[in-house]
Amino acid sequence: MFSSVLNTPIAYLKGVGPQRAEILKKEIGLFTYGDLITYYPFRYIDRTQYYKIREINQDLPYLQILVRLKTFEIIGEKRTKRLVAQAIDDTGEIELVWFQGITWVQKYLEINQAYVIFGKVTFFNGKAQMAHPEIELYSNKTISRGNLKLQPVYSSTEKLKQFNLDSKGIQKLMANALDSCVSEIEEILPHHIQEKYKLIARKKAINNLHFPSSTQELLIAQNTLKFEELFLIQFRMLKSKLIRTQKFKGNIFENVGEKFTYFYENLLPFKLTNAQKRVIKEIRQDTQKGIQMNRLVQGDVGSGKTVVALMTMLLAVDNGFQACLMAPTEILATQHYHSLKGLLSDDFVSIALLTGSSKKKDRKIIADELENGKLSILIGTHALIEDPVKFKNLGFAVIDEQHRFGVEQRAKLWRKNIVPPHILVMTATPIPRTLAMTLYGDLDVSLIDELPAGRKPIETRHLYENQRLRMFGFMKQEIAKGRQVYIVYPLIQESAKLDLKNLMDGVDTMSREFPLPDYRISIVHGQLKAAEKEFEMQRFVKGETQIMVATTVIEVGVNVPNASVMIIENAERFGLSQLHQLRGRVGRGAEQSYCILMSGEKLSKDGRVRLDTMVKTNDGFEIAEIDLQLRGPGNIEGKQQSGLMELKIADLTVDQNILAEARKTVIQIFEEDPDLQNPEHSVLQKVLLKSETGIMLNKIS
Ligand code: ADP
Ligand code: MG
Repeated sequence: MFSSVLNTPIAYLKGVGPQRAEILKKEIGLFTYGDLITYYPFRYIDRTQYYKIREINQDLPYLQILVRLKTFEIIGEKRTKRLVAQAIDDTGEIELVWFQGITWVQKYLEINQAYVIFGKVTFFNGKAQMAHPEIELYSNKTISRGNLKLQPVYSSTEKLKQFNLDSKGIQKLMANALDSCVSEIEEILPHHIQEKYKLIARKKAINNLHFPSSTQELLIAQNTLKFEELFLIQFRMLKSKLIRTQKFKGNIFENVGEKFTYFYENLLPFKLTNAQKRVIKEIRQDTQKGIQMNRLVQGDVGSGKTVVALMTMLLAVDNGFQACLMAPTEILATQHYHSLKGLLSDDFVSIALLTGSSKKKDRKIIADELENGKLSILIGTHALIEDPVKFKNLGFAVIDEQHRFGVEQRAKLWRKNIVPPHILVMTATPIPRTLAMTLYGDLDVSLIDELPAGRKPIETRHLYENQRLRMFGFMKQEIAKGRQVYIVYPLIQESAKLDLKNLMDGVDTMSREFPLPDYRISIVHGQLKAAEKEFEMQRFVKGETQIMVATTVIEVGVNVPNASVMIIENAERFGLSQLHQLRGRVGRGAEQSYCILMSGEKLSKDGRVRLDTMVKTNDGFEIAEIDLQLRGPGNIEGKQQSGLMELKIADLTVDQNILAEARKTVIQIFEEDPDLQNPEHSVLQKVLLKSETGIMLNKIS
């Protein structure tokens, strides 16, 4: 009935049935046998060794200890009622506590008996404690555990548990499923790669991942499946790049023409950094090849990406094409528009701004001029890629702050012209190399790894709430020097209303501390209409206000070189990359700039690491690495939108080497056998169409 067991609905599996099948589908998205067997354990219980009580520390995972029971008693009443036991080994003592199932556990306990206890140890007043340990008479152990020394642990949910599908329940299903379909699992990786990297057969790897009989076996299985997962992602990405370069012709920008040269010779207000020059050159080379360019420019905040975008857009215009620049927010689009207009002082190229709040009348004009080719450069938000926008001849598209845009949106741009435009993606959030390879593996990457000369590194301080007066004093001092100050509040509550209240409380305090007429304050937040936001921004840009109180709407791209102080309230609530982005709003002029991180006394461990990191370094790439370590790649901004689903087994924080090898391998395959003629490679072709491979096959067009 079904083409294979792997594709068979899970309801048919022994131990499942329609009701549980429904729950498995709803709760964890498992539909078929194939889905189930690629639902991998997230950790293992190490039954291979007993820990000694003295060896234990808080950071160890679940573990087992062989103990002798000393005492036990029931204490407390009703809700606080609990069973407390003391147990020892030859190195120390541990307390065991049960709040539930007390009667049952009690029956099982016998003073002086040896038990194997298993659980997570915590420390309370320096004393080791285990709550709700699994407990077993020592002598029974071998019988009940079978030979399984590393027990797989699967994540489950409350709902699943109600249907007896806790980790153990899932484990049972897993055994059943593997029994019935393991023989069907096909090899994916070509034999020569398996050999080279000492990988095992896929069948075996999947089986051993669930039921390893030794740590060694588990490691090999993990390594095999991680390699496969990363290999397939890279394979898809590079494949789509290959198709693109073969299928799509690219516009050729032959000339460095009049406008580019004019701008370079007469208008450019500074000397380009070497990094900027190099990137412009790389783009020039790309656009002369007759292949559609897809290039990512990574550069830390303030590295001067905008002018690179502008000059390359001028290149397009010089060759008879239109260009556009797309930004993620209205504020940013507007800001870009103004700064580009500023750079293009004497109207020698026509440029316009299109956002969600552009007036109907203006839209009409823009639409007309785009179609008849009078307009050369269009700046805007994603309004740019909406259907009604028609270019006469779009040749070059820049996407700023890529992390807010997905692959899908990029693809939309391609369709704006018969020959798809060259695409330049600029990201200000440095991404660790590994992540960039996965997220943007289909792009070529340029790096602006140099800040304009004369920039002084921003000095960052971390102050506690009780040092607030010092902060006020410092603000006054800087304002007296003619500088401007940002104060940013996090989004704290779920509700926009409460957030606004937070901000407004802040504004109250500030207005008292910095009263009119000596001080003027701009206020910008998400609830304002675009025009109001713009008005407040402009007051600050023009220097009419000295202080800007804002929520994170100013996170990306805002450029006010005279602002030299960034104060971040409740800084512990921000993620690292956000903090770095915010800090990047200052330090854009010649003066020494400062960033002050305000926080409460109480900080989580991660919170402290984040603030310490900010104080310690200005290097966006270093910060990105630490961020990756702290948060895991799953939470890095942009991943969700990128079209990349969760990795099932590989972990980009630790598997960077595997990723690099996998990518290298894929590149080699495409070089040697671009049409996948080698019989060993033909399965790869097929794999792209299948979803049962256990990795997501995302929709990169
Ligand atoms: P980002 O890379 O964060 O987008 P911007 O393009 O906004 O940075 O540039 C930051 C600031 O640096 C701007 O004020 C810009 O005019 C200035 N700038 C850019 N390139 C140079 C340069 N080569 N020399 C001096 N200043 C520069
Ligand atoms: Mg920018």
